[in-house]
Amino acid sequence: MKLSLSNGIFSKLKIKDNFDTVKRLGFVNIEFNMKSIKKEHDTDVYREQKAYATSGLKCLTLHSAVLHVKDPIEIHQAVYYGKISLECACALQAPLMTVHSNVSKKLPRNIREECLIEVFGQIKLFAKKLGIKLSLENLSFNSTGFGKNVEQLEEVLGVIDPKGEMGITFDLCHALETKVVDELLDKYGRRICNVHMANKSHHPFTEKKPELTHFLSALHQYAYDGPITLELENKTSMEDLAITKAFFDKLLKEY
Ligand SMILES: [Zn+2]
Repeated sequence: MKLSLSNGIFSKLKIKDNFDTVKRLGFVNIEFNMKSIKKEHDTDVYREQKAYATSGLKCLTLHSAVLHVKDPIEIHQAVYYGKISLECACALQAPLMTVHSNVSKKLPRNIREECLIEVFGQIKLFAKKLGIKLSLENLSFNSTGFGKNVEQLEEVLGVIDPKGEMGITFDLCHALETKVVDELLDKYGRRICNVHMANKSHHPFTEKKPELTHFLSALHQYAYDGPITLELENKTSMEDLAITKAFFDKLLKEY
């Protein structure tokens, strides 16, 4: 398993400072979170590409910009977010992009299906063209989006991924908050290709809690060797980040 850091935690910094801060902490791998970009300017992608090329970092995954569509009128905007994120993933040579369902949990089922077909019809085509794999993330109960448990994720995947080609981004924080860790592991264990690692409320794990070792053992049994992406709340201090990194560097050697 490969330790990685979501750079969304430094989204307030300019991109070069963002990458420099990640490096100062000793991380080699990142998940590039689109929160770090001003989406109004499509050409920003060239700036990110340049900063990335000189950073020496390796972008294992990219977290898409996301809009949880609550009215079909917003479909074009969700498609735009998905496509500009794919452009950035391509520029940073990330082979995998994490996506949400992009639909609000408040939509009735028939409209939800219509929106899913429209949004992913376009995002999937573009991802295929660029050779980037999509990976659907489980959401928390307090998210505005749809897709917090197996029942909801199955509905989404049934519409957007009938051939079962997409991966799953397992967010441990969301799964703990929603109490669905085991049901997600049982259903999607073999499809996981990215992990968002945090305790509830996106607090860092800094010791061997049973829920953490249980989860890592399960991943190990599924022969998981992908990213363990620390996705932590913005308030996490540099000191706590350093402690968390040291803890996971040691812990992951056991799996
Ligand atoms: Zn996440």
